Amino acid sequence: MIRTTCMAALGAALAFSVSAQTVKVTPLGGFDGEFCAQDRALIFEDPNGTRILYDPGRSVAGAADPRLGKIDIILVSHLHGDHVGNAHTKAVNAGTCASPDMSVSDMPNSNAVNIAVAKKSKIVTGSEMPPFFAAKLKANGGDPANSILARFGGSVTVGGVRIATVTAMHSNGLDPDYIGGDLGKAMKDAGIAGDVGLPTGYVLRFSNGLVVYLSGDTGITAEQDLVVRGYYNAKLAVMNVGGAPFTTGPVEGAHVINEMVKPNAVVVSHVNEAGTQGGKVIAGSKTEAFMKAVKVPVYVPLSGKTMEFDASGKCVAGC
Ligand SMILES: [Zn+2]
Repeated sequence: MIRTTCMAALGAALAFSVSAQTVKVTPLGGFDGEFCAQDRALIFEDPNGTRILYDPGRSVAGAADPRLGKIDIILVSHLHGDHVGNAHTKAVNAGTCASPDMSVSDMPNSNAVNIAVAKKSKIVTGSEMPPFFAAKLKANGGDPANSILARFGGSVTVGGVRIATVTAMHSNGLDPDYIGGDLGKAMKDAGIAGDVGLPTGYVLRFSNGLVVYLSGDTGITAEQDLVVRGYYNAKLAVMNVGGAPFTTGPVEGAHVINEMVKPNAVVVSHVNEAGTQGGKVIAGSKTEAFMKAVKVPVYVPLSGKTMEFDASGKCVAGC
């Protein structure tokens, strides 16, 4: 009897220590419990408590969105409006899942910068984006030193999480409205975007050992095989599959996962459609096509539903 009790207690203690070593992933989409057209934002919480917001985009309802909580680090893959947030929803659940409300302008700051200033977050970006964010932080009363560089091939460790950037084959023009003034107007009239360097993906290594690939917006690149798998050995991927004419779609994205990155699990992202209704994947959607084509488990980022992943990329709770 005593022995049984002891074993039960030991089992409970082991279960606790296992769950304490998971990375929690919480989608901040536009509609509670759904996966919708503008959804990009994910919060990753390391077992040590560090909280990382990836591509806040337009579905986070500004810096006052109560779902944010503490944000230590913000990652921005590139400066297109749906990732950095040129505007945001006026409230969670405003508009429709296929056509969300995004009526609150964040120009010329961006949703990402406004959140960083309010939360005193660090913004970690690659390429030539850090000087842009440093200037925006400074202009809005933030600390420019909170804009941190992680350029290709190197990495920075912030809050116990190693952050590296990797190739994303896309574009990264800066809307001249972020520049403003006569220069911004002249650029706009000429149809020229600002140069902030190459777009990026990320590879994160959390303190429990989990390595996660965040694709950003991208086409198919050799680095997904040679670098993301071959060097970093990512076990969980967040794959953007918006499709033509912008990026990899469900078919191309499935190839990237099955033949190149080869993780143990995937979170589908950036589908530019209503992916779910009532929390269930919509038949005939791109989301469904991707899930059917991928050989490993695919998880749908339902807004507000936290998923927990162990070091091998296995979902152990919330999926
Ligand atoms: Zn995008």
